[in-house]
Parts: sequence; C-alpha cells; structure tokens
Amino acid sequence: MTVGFAGGGSERYDAVIVAEGVGSSTRERVFPGENTPRWMDLTIAYLTIPRTADDDRMWRWYNATQGRGVSLRPDRHGTTRAMLMIQQPPGGEQDWSPDRQRAFLRARFADAGWEAPRVLAALDKTDDFYFDVLRQVRMKVWSKGRVVLTGDAAWCATPLAGVGTTLAITGAYVLAGEMVRNGDVVSAFAAYERAMRAMVDKAQGVPKIAPRVMNPHSRLGIRLLHAVLRAASHPGLRNLAVKAFARPPVQPDLSPYRALEAGRLPEKLSG
Ligand SMILES: Cc1cc2nc3c(=O)[nH]c(=O)nc-3n(C[C@H](O)[C@H](O)[C@H](O)COP(=O)(O)OP(=O)(O)OC[C@H]3O[C@@H](n4cnc5c(N)ncnc54)[C@H](O)[C@@H]3O)c2cc1C
Repeated sequence: MTVGFAGGGSERYDAVIVAEGVGSSTRERVFPGENTPRWMDLTIAYLTIPRTADDDRMWRWYNATQGRGVSLRPDRHGTTRAMLMIQQPPGGEQDWSPDRQRAFLRARFADAGWEAPRVLAALDKTDDFYFDVLRQVRMKVWSKGRVVLTGDAAWCATPLAGVGTTLAITGAYVLAGEMVRNGDVVSAFAAYERAMRAMVDKAQGVPKIAPRVMNPHSRLGIRLLHAVLRAASHPGLRNLAVKAFARPPVQPDLSPYRALEAGRLPEKLSG
C-alpha cells in the first residue's frame, strides 16, 4: 500500500502498524467514527515537582470535596510525582491548550487544601505536565486491509486498569509473532485480533463507578471511604478479599511465539 506523508512524499509498505496512543489521529483517518470511547468521568493531571522533607517513602493521597484528589509519590530520581484528579463528566478539556488546562486546575484546586497550593505553584515551572480526560478506546475491529492498530490506539484501557503497558507489549509481541507465522498480513492481523480480544475485554471491564467511589464529592463520602479503606487494609480482611476477588489473569497463549523465537536463535544460543 502507498502511504502519503504530511511533510510531503510517499512510500510503499506491506503493512502499516498504528501505535500512536489513545488520541491516535491516524486511527481517525483510517477508521473514521469507528471508535466509541467509554468515558470514565475522571480528569487527571500529572507533573513532577521538587521533593520536600515531608515526602518520605510513602505515596500520600488526599481527598477533597467535589470529587477532587491530590496525590504525592516520591520517585527514585530525587523528585516527587504529583497527581491532581477531578471526578466529573467529560467536557472536552483534553483538547484545550496546556495554558487553559493549567488555568482550569488552578481554579478547581484553589480551595482544595492540604498540599494543593504546592502542586499548583509547580504547574508553571514543570516541563512534564500531562493532562487527560480518561476514556477507553473501543473499536469493533483493529485492522482494515493492510493497516492495523495496536496498544492504546487500539484499546486504551486507561490508567485505571493498571495494565496498559502489559497490553501494549503483549500486543506488539503477538502481532510480530503472527506476522512471522502467517503468509499474508490480512490473516496475521485476524489471528492477532483473535489472540488479544479476551485480554483486552478483561482489562476494559474496570467498572465506571470506581473513580466515583475513590473520589467522593461530600465530606460524609470522604469519611465513609476512609473508614472502608482502613477496614480493608486490616491483614485478616485483606487476605479474605484477595481470596474472594482474585481471578486468574487472562492472557493469550504465548508459547507458539516463544517457539518461533527459539527457532530463530543461532544454534549455539538456542540450547
Ligand atoms: C498517567 C498514566 C499512568 C499510567 N500508569 C500505568 C501503570 O502503572 N501501569 C500500566 O501498565 N500502564 C499504565 N498506564 C498506561 C500506559 O502508559 C499505556 O497503556 C501505554 O503507554 C500504551 O503504550 P502505547 O505505545 O500504545 O501508547 P503511548 O505510550 O501513548 O505511545 C504512543 C506514542 O506515539 C506518539 N505518536 C502519536 N501520534 C504520532 C504520529 N502521528 N507520529 C509519530 N508518533 C506519534 C506519541 O507521542 C507517543 O509517544 C498509565 C498511563 C497514564 C497516562
């Protein structure tokens, strides 16, 4: 197929793999209107801020009313990762300019209390400001002819799922394996989709109520949440909950691809 580039020129390729992340523009070009996003009603901002003496080993998490949250997590680089959260329906904020997003955060967190002023003060100075309105990417199919989607561009599960990187790496591995195993790219893409669907469906099953529960709007809601978390962190109850809710992970059978890898190693390495 022939691919035209925005910067001019064109090239021919056997296959095009789109791995552009949740906001993929090529996905919208090749599959117009086919993504039906599942909005998670949570807006988040991440930034790195200078560490202070109060930032010890612990990840500290604070709830304010109106669905607002602030968290501070010291990293291994001598700085602290800050997160601001707002539980509310989406309002197109992901498409605003970074300046407008910063102004929005300043207004919403002005009276939040705790360490919010420290995080807001760092907003203008940080160079790694990340802002997004969480939504899952929901596609009925991940390929069209010789074009295939993978990673967040195909199935973003949002940070709430906690397995986005696992999915992206597994997807890339399976896709590469199927392209080696199959004679033509269309069959390879179909096999890749068959292998990955169950794992993606499981990851996207995170309930929409979760952000609402973790970011209460009233003082009473915050008190209730903290009481439940205190009880749940009791070792006896924690073990019980793990037994009651733990499910075996859903993942594709990777053994055929491992065998392919082994077959391709030089003889002296493969033993
Ligand atoms: C705040 C946050 C916390 C997270 N925490 C976790 C976690 O703890 N564990 C976990 O497993 N997952 C986590 N995730 C999810 C994980 O980061 C993603 O699922 C994963 O990065 C997806 O990988 P990807 O390669 O598909 O997309 P991305 O990592 O988004 O990479 C896509 C890349 O493509 C580039 N790009 C886009 N368009 C173009 C273009 N036209 N041309 C060239 N390049 C382009 C982008 O700039 C980007 O670099 C988190 C995500 C976020 C936002």
